[in-house]
Amino acid sequence: MKDCIFCRIVAGEIPAKVVHQDDEIVALRDANPQAPVHLLLVPRRHIASLNDVEAADGPLLGRLLLVAQELATSEGVGEGYRLVNNCGRTAGQSVFHLHLHLLGGRPMGWPPG
Ligand code: AMP
Repeated sequence: MKDCIFCRIVAGEIPAKVVHQDDEIVALRDANPQAPVHLLLVPRRHIASLNDVEAADGPLLGRLLLVAQELATSEGVGEGYRLVNNCGRTAGQSVFHLHLHLLGGRPMGWPPG
């Protein structure tokens, strides 16, 4: 998707602070961090939102969670962190390429805004 910012980051066309990459997933630091640790876990394949995943994507979704767990530990926030997926504009999704936010390094309130 040539007009998708995360596809362009995955392709190396836009600079990003990449902290992890493998054959399926790229993780980078959010450009507008909301916590001391704020990473985005992005599948290489363009999927617009969580509403667009299918049953066959189950292993990819599982890997996103496992990579999040690994990164939380390597970023030093393994004792407490939050994973967020904003699905749809109403929930605050602004980039329509599936991603998880990994937030940590400060106390988190509940309920979220
Ligand atoms: P969401 O609003 O849930 O779709 O999250 C999109 C996130 O992408 C926001 O937290 C933005 O700060 C972040 N973002 C947008 N463009 C970039 C970029 N070029 N590099 C890193 N993070 C970005």
